Amino acid sequence: MSAASTNAGIRGKVAVVTGASSGIGEATALALAEAGAKVVLNARRQERLEALAGRIRDAGGEATVFVGDAADEGQARGMIQHATQTFGGVDILVNNAGLMLLGPVADADTEDWRRMINLNLLGLMYATHAAIPSMRARGGGHIVNVSSVSGRGASPTSAGYSATKWGVGGFSEGLRQEVRLHGIRVTVIEPGVVRTELTDHITHQETKTTYEGRIAQMTPLEPEDIAAAVVYAVTQPVRVNVNEILIRPLDQG
Ligand code: NDP
Repeated sequence: MSAASTNAGIRGKVAVVTGASSGIGEATALALAEAGAKVVLNARRQERLEALAGRIRDAGGEATVFVGDAADEGQARGMIQHATQTFGGVDILVNNAGLMLLGPVADADTEDWRRMINLNLLGLMYATHAAIPSMRARGGGHIVNVSSVSGRGASPTSAGYSATKWGVGGFSEGLRQEVRLHGIRVTVIEPGVVRTELTDHITHQETKTTYEGRIAQMTPLEPEDIAAAVVYAVTQPVRVNVNEILIRPLDQG
Protein backbone atom coordinates (compact mmCIF):
# COMPACT_ATOMS: atom_id res chain seq x y z
CA MET A 1 0.00 0.00 0.00
CA SER A 2 1.41 3.40 -0.89
CA ALA A 3 2.36 5.91 1.73
CA ALA A 4 -0.01 8.42 0.15
CA SER A 5 -3.06 6.27 0.80
CA THR A 6 -2.18 5.43 4.38
CA ASN A 7 -0.34 8.42 5.74
CA ALA A 8 -2.64 11.40 6.00
CA GLY A 9 -0.22 13.68 7.79
CA ILE A 10 -0.81 17.35 7.13
CA ARG A 11 2.78 18.53 6.77
CA GLY A 12 2.83 21.17 4.02
CA LYS A 13 -0.96 21.26 3.68
CA VAL A 14 -2.67 24.65 3.63
CA ALA A 15 -5.22 25.19 6.39
CA VAL A 16 -7.53 28.21 6.59
CA VAL A 17 -8.94 28.88 10.06
CA THR A 18 -11.68 31.44 10.62
CA GLY A 19 -12.04 33.06 14.02
CA ALA A 20 -8.35 32.48 14.74
CA SER A 21 -7.85 35.51 16.99
CA SER A 22 -9.08 33.77 20.15
CA GLY A 23 -10.43 30.63 21.76
CA ILE A 24 -10.93 27.48 19.70
CA GLY A 25 -9.75 29.03 16.43
CA GLU A 26 -6.48 30.27 17.92
CA ALA A 27 -5.75 26.90 19.55
CA THR A 28 -6.68 25.05 16.36
CA ALA A 29 -4.44 27.20 14.17
CA LEU A 30 -1.54 26.60 16.56
CA ALA A 31 -2.16 22.86 16.65
CA LEU A 32 -2.43 22.59 12.87
CA ALA A 33 0.79 24.60 12.47
CA GLU A 34 2.52 22.34 14.99
CA ALA A 35 1.39 19.39 12.90
CA GLY A 36 3.13 20.99 9.92
CA ALA A 37 0.33 22.80 8.10
CA LYS A 38 0.74 26.26 6.59
CA VAL A 39 -2.00 28.27 8.23
CA VAL A 40 -4.12 31.17 7.03
CA LEU A 41 -5.44 33.10 10.01
CA ASN A 42 -8.73 34.97 9.67
CA ALA A 43 -10.65 37.19 12.09
CA ARG A 44 -11.21 40.93 12.47
CA ARG A 45 -8.69 41.80 15.21
CA GLN A 46 -5.46 42.24 13.25
CA GLU A 47 -3.10 42.63 16.21
CA ARG A 48 -4.19 39.33 17.72
CA LEU A 49 -3.74 37.57 14.38
CA GLU A 50 -0.31 39.10 13.77
CA ALA A 51 0.79 38.06 17.27
CA LEU A 52 -0.37 34.50 16.61
CA ALA A 53 1.34 34.42 13.22
CA GLY A 54 4.52 35.61 14.96
CA ARG A 55 4.32 32.79 17.50
CA ILE A 56 3.85 30.24 14.73
CA ARG A 57 6.78 31.60 12.71
CA ASP A 58 8.99 31.74 15.79
CA ALA A 59 8.28 28.05 16.28
CA GLY A 60 9.38 27.34 12.70
CA GLY A 61 5.92 27.24 11.13
CA GLU A 62 4.32 29.15 8.27
CA ALA A 63 1.40 31.53 8.74
CA THR A 64 -0.30 34.38 6.94
CA VAL A 65 -2.98 36.75 8.16
CA PHE A 66 -6.20 37.69 6.41
CA VAL A 67 -8.12 40.33 8.31
CA GLY A 68 -11.75 40.23 7.30
CA ASP A 69 -15.37 39.75 8.23
CA ALA A 70 -16.19 36.09 7.65
CA ALA A 71 -19.90 36.96 7.47
CA ASP A 72 -19.31 38.99 4.32
CA GLU A 73 -19.38 36.91 1.14
CA GLY A 74 -16.82 39.04 -0.69
CA GLN A 75 -14.41 38.91 2.23
CA ALA A 76 -14.90 35.17 2.69
CA ARG A 77 -14.02 34.77 -0.98
CA GLY A 78 -11.06 37.15 -0.53
CA MET A 79 -9.80 34.94 2.30
CA ILE A 80 -9.65 31.92 0.02
CA GLN A 81 -8.00 34.00 -2.72
CA HIS A 82 -5.42 35.16 -0.20
CA ALA A 83 -4.70 31.53 0.72
CA THR A 84 -4.28 30.67 -2.94
CA GLN A 85 -2.02 33.64 -3.68
CA THR A 86 0.12 33.04 -0.59
CA PHE A 87 0.31 29.27 -0.33
CA GLY A 88 -1.05 28.02 -3.67
CA GLY A 89 -4.49 26.78 -2.61
CA VAL A 90 -6.55 25.36 0.25
CA ASP A 91 -6.47 21.80 1.63
CA ILE A 92 -8.20 22.27 4.97
CA LEU A 93 -10.87 24.81 5.87
CA VAL A 94 -11.87 25.16 9.52
CA ASN A 95 -15.09 27.15 9.68
CA ASN A 96 -14.85 28.18 13.30
CA ALA A 97 -15.78 31.89 13.58
CA GLY A 98 -18.99 32.20 15.51
CA LEU A 99 -21.16 34.17 17.87
CA MET A 100 -23.39 32.83 20.65
CA LEU A 101 -25.89 35.56 21.43
CA LEU A 102 -28.11 33.67 23.86
CA GLY A 103 -31.42 35.02 25.09
CA PRO A 104 -35.13 34.25 25.20
CA VAL A 105 -37.00 34.49 21.90
CA ALA A 106 -39.68 36.84 23.17
CA ASP A 107 -37.10 39.35 24.48
CA ALA A 108 -34.70 38.98 21.56
CA ASP A 109 -33.05 41.86 19.80
CA THR A 110 -33.62 40.40 16.34
CA GLU A 111 -30.37 41.99 15.19
CA ASP A 112 -28.67 39.28 17.31
CA TRP A 113 -30.35 36.64 15.15
CA ARG A 114 -29.17 38.29 11.95
CA ARG A 115 -25.61 38.57 13.24
CA MET A 116 -25.55 34.89 14.21
CA ILE A 117 -27.15 33.62 11.01
CA ASN A 118 -24.85 35.79 8.90
CA LEU A 119 -21.69 34.55 10.61
CA ASN A 120 -22.40 31.08 12.05
CA LEU A 121 -24.31 29.80 9.05
CA LEU A 122 -24.01 31.98 5.94
CA GLY A 123 -20.35 32.85 6.57
CA LEU A 124 -19.51 29.16 6.88
CA MET A 125 -21.42 28.45 3.67
CA TYR A 126 -19.67 31.27 1.77
CA ALA A 127 -16.18 30.11 2.80
CA THR A 128 -17.06 26.53 1.91
CA HIS A 129 -18.38 27.57 -1.51
CA ALA A 130 -15.24 29.59 -2.16
CA ALA A 131 -12.87 26.81 -1.06
CA ILE A 132 -14.33 23.81 -2.91
CA PRO A 133 -12.87 24.66 -6.35
CA SER A 134 -9.35 24.85 -4.92
CA MET A 135 -9.80 21.55 -3.05
CA ARG A 136 -11.16 19.86 -6.16
CA ALA A 137 -8.24 21.15 -8.20
CA ARG A 138 -5.86 19.69 -5.62
CA GLY A 139 -7.59 16.30 -5.69
CA GLY A 140 -9.19 16.51 -2.26
CA GLY A 141 -9.51 18.43 0.96
CA HIS A 142 -11.15 18.62 4.34
CA ILE A 143 -13.84 20.97 5.61
CA VAL A 144 -14.23 21.15 9.38
CA ASN A 145 -17.36 22.91 10.58
CA VAL A 146 -17.51 23.97 14.21
CA SER A 147 -21.06 23.49 15.41
CA SER A 148 -22.00 22.91 19.06
CA VAL A 149 -23.96 20.68 21.41
CA SER A 150 -26.53 23.37 20.59
CA GLY A 151 -26.53 21.94 17.08
CA ARG A 152 -28.00 18.73 18.49
CA GLY A 153 -30.29 20.01 21.17
CA ALA A 154 -31.84 23.22 22.37
CA SER A 155 -32.81 24.75 25.69
CA PRO A 156 -34.40 27.98 26.86
CA THR A 157 -32.30 30.97 25.63
CA SER A 158 -30.53 28.88 22.95
CA ALA A 159 -33.24 28.93 20.25
CA GLY A 160 -31.64 31.50 17.96
CA TYR A 161 -28.11 30.11 18.41
CA SER A 162 -29.36 26.54 18.05
CA ALA A 163 -31.12 27.49 14.82
CA THR A 164 -27.76 28.49 13.34
CA LYS A 165 -25.93 25.41 14.60
CA TRP A 166 -28.68 23.02 13.47
CA GLY A 167 -28.31 24.75 10.13
CA VAL A 168 -24.60 23.95 10.20
CA GLY A 169 -25.47 20.29 10.80
CA GLY A 170 -27.92 20.13 7.91
CA PHE A 171 -25.60 21.95 5.53
CA SER A 172 -22.66 19.75 6.50
CA GLU A 173 -24.57 16.50 6.05
CA GLY A 174 -25.69 17.37 2.52
CA LEU A 175 -22.27 18.79 1.69
CA ARG A 176 -20.51 15.64 2.93
CA GLN A 177 -22.46 13.45 0.54
CA GLU A 178 -21.71 15.72 -2.43
CA VAL A 179 -18.04 16.51 -1.99
CA ARG A 180 -16.86 13.04 -0.94
CA LEU A 181 -17.03 12.24 -4.65
CA HIS A 182 -14.17 14.72 -5.10
CA GLY A 183 -12.07 13.40 -2.22
CA ILE A 184 -13.21 16.14 0.14
CA ARG A 185 -14.01 15.11 3.71
CA VAL A 186 -16.44 16.93 6.00
CA THR A 187 -16.29 16.87 9.78
CA VAL A 188 -18.68 18.54 12.20
CA ILE A 189 -17.27 19.32 15.64
CA GLU A 190 -19.79 19.79 18.43
CA PRO A 191 -18.22 21.18 21.59
CA GLY A 192 -19.93 21.56 24.91
CA VAL A 193 -18.79 24.39 27.17
CA VAL A 194 -15.28 25.63 26.35
CA ARG A 195 -13.44 28.37 28.24
CA THR A 196 -13.24 31.17 25.61
CA GLU A 197 -14.44 34.73 24.97
CA LEU A 198 -17.72 33.46 23.49
CA THR A 199 -19.97 34.64 26.34
CA ASP A 200 -18.50 38.18 26.31
CA HIS A 201 -20.75 39.17 23.43
CA ILE A 202 -24.13 38.08 24.84
CA THR A 203 -26.36 41.16 24.77
CA HIS A 204 -29.20 39.86 27.00
CA GLN A 205 -27.70 40.71 30.39
CA GLU A 206 -29.80 38.36 32.52
CA THR A 207 -28.92 35.43 30.29
CA LYS A 208 -25.25 36.42 30.27
CA THR A 209 -25.11 36.51 34.07
CA THR A 210 -26.91 33.17 34.41
CA TYR A 211 -24.79 31.43 31.79
CA GLU A 212 -21.48 32.76 33.14
CA GLY A 213 -22.56 31.69 36.64
CA ARG A 214 -23.17 28.18 35.32
CA ILE A 215 -19.71 28.03 33.75
CA ALA A 216 -18.09 29.26 36.97
CA GLN A 217 -19.42 26.18 38.75
CA MET A 218 -17.84 23.70 36.38
CA THR A 219 -14.52 22.78 34.82
CA PRO A 220 -15.13 23.62 31.16
CA LEU A 221 -13.14 22.29 28.25
CA GLU A 222 -10.06 24.22 27.14
CA PRO A 223 -9.71 25.40 23.50
CA GLU A 224 -6.82 22.93 23.10
CA ASP A 225 -9.24 20.05 23.73
CA ILE A 226 -11.22 21.02 20.64
CA ALA A 227 -8.06 21.71 18.63
CA ALA A 228 -6.96 18.14 19.37
CA ALA A 229 -10.25 16.83 17.95
CA VAL A 230 -9.72 18.84 14.76
CA VAL A 231 -6.18 17.52 14.39
CA TYR A 232 -7.47 13.98 14.96
CA ALA A 233 -10.06 14.34 12.20
CA VAL A 234 -7.75 15.87 9.60
CA THR A 235 -4.85 13.47 10.17
CA GLN A 236 -6.78 10.25 9.62
CA PRO A 237 -5.94 8.13 6.58
CA VAL A 238 -7.70 9.51 3.52
CA ARG A 239 -10.17 6.60 3.48
CA VAL A 240 -11.51 7.76 6.88
CA ASN A 241 -14.21 10.43 6.92
CA VAL A 242 -14.81 11.45 10.52
CA ASN A 243 -18.32 12.83 10.17
CA GLU A 244 -19.01 14.14 13.64
CA ILE A 245 -17.27 14.65 16.99
CA LEU A 246 -19.33 15.58 20.08
CA ILE A 247 -17.29 16.59 23.11
CA ARG A 248 -18.63 17.73 26.46
CA PRO A 249 -16.76 18.52 29.65
CA LEU A 250 -17.17 15.77 32.21
CA ASP A 251 -19.03 18.30 34.35
CA GLN A 252 -21.66 19.01 31.69
CA GLY A 253 -24.81 16.90 31.85
P1 NDP B 1 -14.37 33.23 20.82
O1 NDP B 1 -15.31 34.35 21.03
O2 NDP B 1 -13.18 33.11 21.72
O3 NDP B 1 -13.86 33.20 19.32
C1 NDP B 1 -14.66 33.60 18.25
C2 NDP B 1 -13.76 33.95 17.10
O4 NDP B 1 -14.57 34.33 15.99
C3 NDP B 1 -12.84 35.11 17.40
O5 NDP B 1 -11.58 34.83 16.85
C4 NDP B 1 -13.47 36.26 16.67
O6 NDP B 1 -12.46 37.18 16.29
C5 NDP B 1 -14.06 35.55 15.48
N1 NDP B 1 -15.09 36.31 14.83
C6 NDP B 1 -16.23 36.84 15.37
N2 NDP B 1 -16.93 37.49 14.44
C7 NDP B 1 -16.22 37.36 13.27
C8 NDP B 1 -16.44 37.81 11.96
N3 NDP B 1 -17.51 38.52 11.64
N4 NDP B 1 -15.51 37.51 11.02
C9 NDP B 1 -14.41 36.81 11.34
N5 NDP B 1 -14.17 36.34 12.57
C10 NDP B 1 -15.07 36.62 13.53
O7 NDP B 1 -15.27 31.92 20.93
P2 NDP B 1 -14.98 30.36 20.69
O8 NDP B 1 -13.58 30.09 20.41
O9 NDP B 1 -15.65 29.66 21.79
O10 NDP B 1 -15.88 30.13 19.40
C11 NDP B 1 -15.44 29.45 18.24
C12 NDP B 1 -16.57 28.58 17.72
O11 NDP B 1 -16.85 27.56 18.66
C13 NDP B 1 -17.88 29.30 17.46
O12 NDP B 1 -18.42 28.87 16.24
C14 NDP B 1 -18.76 28.83 18.61
O13 NDP B 1 -20.13 28.84 18.28
C15 NDP B 1 -18.23 27.42 18.80
N6 NDP B 1 -18.53 26.82 20.10
C16 NDP B 1 -18.01 27.33 21.25
C17 NDP B 1 -18.34 26.79 22.47
C18 NDP B 1 -17.85 27.35 23.77
O14 NDP B 1 -18.36 26.95 24.83
N7 NDP B 1 -16.89 28.25 23.77
C19 NDP B 1 -19.22 25.62 22.56
C20 NDP B 1 -19.69 25.15 21.29
C21 NDP B 1 -19.35 25.73 20.12
P3 NDP B 1 -12.63 38.74 15.99
O15 NDP B 1 -13.52 39.30 17.04
O16 NDP B 1 -11.23 39.22 16.05
O17 NDP B 1 -13.20 38.85 14.61
